[in-house]
Amino acid sequence: MKKPMKTKIHPSYVAAHVRCTCGNEFVTRATRDELHVEVCSNCHPFYTGRQKLMDTGGRVERFQRRVAKGRLHSAQTRASK
Ligand SMILES: [Zn+2]
Repeated sequence: MKKPMKTKIHPSYVAAHVRCTCGNEFVTRATRDELHVEVCSNCHPFYTGRQKLMDTGGRVERFQRRVAKGRLHSAQTRASK
């Protein structure tokens, strides 16, 4: 199972200059020397924290407050689940 690698059919990996739509730029290794991405580790919500999560949390909070006003008991039952 040990064949010599056919280097000619393998893409050569080079240092790629990656530019993200958020303005962040970094260098990684890829088959192209320049890449454009929409999210990177600098602006993805998963890494930055919260943008999306906070927005969702706010909506849920507002909804829960509205529910609590009218039907306090059932809301508590659901929340304590
Ligand atoms: Zn980015």
